Amino acid sequence: MTDCVTILGTRGSVPVSGPEYAQYGGATTCVLVRLGGETVLIDAGTGLMALPEAAMELPELPLLLTHAHADHLLGLAVCPYVMRRGRRLDIYLKERGGMDGRTQIARMFSPPIWPVGLEELPAEVCVHPLDGSMTIGNIRIDTLEGTHPGGVSLLRLTSGGKSVAFMSDCTFSECDMPEYVGFARGCDLLLADGQYSPEEWEEHKDFGHSTWLMAARLAGECGAGLARIIHHDPCRTDAILDAAAAALAPDHPNCAFAREGEEIFL
Ligand SMILES: [Zn+2]
Ligand SMILES: [Zn+2]
Repeated sequence: MTDCVTILGTRGSVPVSGPEYAQYGGATTCVLVRLGGETVLIDAGTGLMALPEAAMELPELPLLLTHAHADHLLGLAVCPYVMRRGRRLDIYLKERGGMDGRTQIARMFSPPIWPVGLEELPAEVCVHPLDGSMTIGNIRIDTLEGTHPGGVSLLRLTSGGKSVAFMSDCTFSECDMPEYVGFARGCDLLLADGQYSPEEWEEHKDFGHSTWLMAARLAGECGAGLARIIHHDPCRTDAILDAAAAALAPDHPNCAFAREGEEIFL
């Protein structure tokens, strides 16, 4: 199996739809990583609805959740994978706010917010803690706590000398930048939060995200082979992202805005 990352959802905050979002996509954050012969999901935004059939056929699938904000969980509600019997979804989520992972997810997937709980799904859903470093099959997973309301797990997946850093929902502040650069150093692919434009920053600097320039700077300083800016703001149309990409390209040739459906081979 070729090492490949498939972007299933790029959007942050809420999903959007319409022709003005056709290129970069309207589904919220979800990424499928195939690395070292393993298949792992990162986050369960509405992009999870587009899970490829090859992954649907796996009897077991691990899902790393960076945090339990709704835009990273919504896809679980009617995800075709959990609607199949004989499937097992292993969710990894860090304990936060005194709540273990299952309790955090159940806050959203229980009445009156949602009629069906995790234990009522046709598939078996197991929830495990996510902290420090761990392995799933051939993949080593390292985590780093990022700056985001309520906390977020930044992830680095490594196998067979290849690595992918997933760093969405995080403010890459000046003072913390060295730690983030160290975490992502030399990765083959970096996915980094760039929800805001530099012009929007002053008004949004406490929201737990970054600008696309901050994401591009992180990509350059850590020496990522390739980088994709992710967690696009809902108001960001294709035209706006195309213009931002054109402005970034001269100084950051390896850095682009993530597009829904894109497959990135490592
Ligand atoms: Zn988010
Ligand atoms: Zn968030």
